[in-house]
Amino acid sequence: METAYSDLKTTVKDNTILQLHNICFSYHSLLGETDVLHNISFSVKEGEFIAIVGPSGCGKSTLLNILCGLIKAKEGHRIISDNISIGYMLQHDHLFEWRTIYENVTLGLEIQGKMDKENTDYVLSLLESYGLIDFKDKKPSELSGGMKQRAALIRTLALHPQILLLDEPFSALDYQTRLMVSSDIGSLIRHTNKTAILVTHNLSEAISLADRVLVLSKRPSEIRKDMNIHLTLPDDSLLAYRRAPEFQDYFNEIWELLIDEK
Ligand code: ADP
Repeated sequence: METAYSDLKTTVKDNTILQLHNICFSYHSLLGETDVLHNISFSVKEGEFIAIVGPSGCGKSTLLNILCGLIKAKEGHRIISDNISIGYMLQHDHLFEWRTIYENVTLGLEIQGKMDKENTDYVLSLLESYGLIDFKDKKPSELSGGMKQRAALIRTLALHPQILLLDEPFSALDYQTRLMVSSDIGSLIRHTNKTAILVTHNLSEAISLADRVLVLSKRPSEIRKDMNIHLTLPDDSLLAYRRAPEFQDYFNEIWELLIDEK
């Protein structure tokens, strides 16, 4: 079947490293066609943190799969900067029980034949700063949910991706751990100036972590709002963002848009 989709690798201007133009996508199965995405366009600049929210089943994971090139859209085009590598962190940690934490976090390096001293030292430094160094020889079942999720992030970061795609990475964690791990991971991403695109159901998480929130409509999804987030933080505590004067207005605006979609 002929498609009107194109994928282009090029040097993009103005710090833009990834662009989608008029992306349309449907799934086809024996039961018929499911229209998922309709005319989705947006750009991602280097160092930006974007959160994607929208009703369940609206196509957020599908959009991440298109962004990283795992699946091809039906129409539109994707433009990605030359030599950009993408790391993908999924909802579940997918750590292998028969490998130690160290063997899990170095799996990508091993597969790509990059187990040199520079890379393994980097992994050890990440394990150190994530409080997992004393657990590196343990098996995943000996770690808490939050620790396993941090190990999954280290496995992703070990390959030095310039863009991180995060699909509900904190959803398996209990409320308190989720607050701590998301704040931890948010500051790590900021301090290393990584570009990140996060799919989440949690509006507070989206507002607290992201520079921009894309609000999707129900299927076939369009971007209802592309919202810039600026929070004036009263201090650097974990929950400071909730006390930022702008927080509640952003929350209400996104909430209204999502309620409208029901
Ligand atoms: P979200 O991440 O927003 O929950 P998804 O991108 O997972 O949404 O799915 C969007 C829609 O496409 C849903 O209705 C889902 O059931 C459907 N879908 C997802 N994957 C497939 C597939 N491989 N084949 C057919 N339909 C699919």
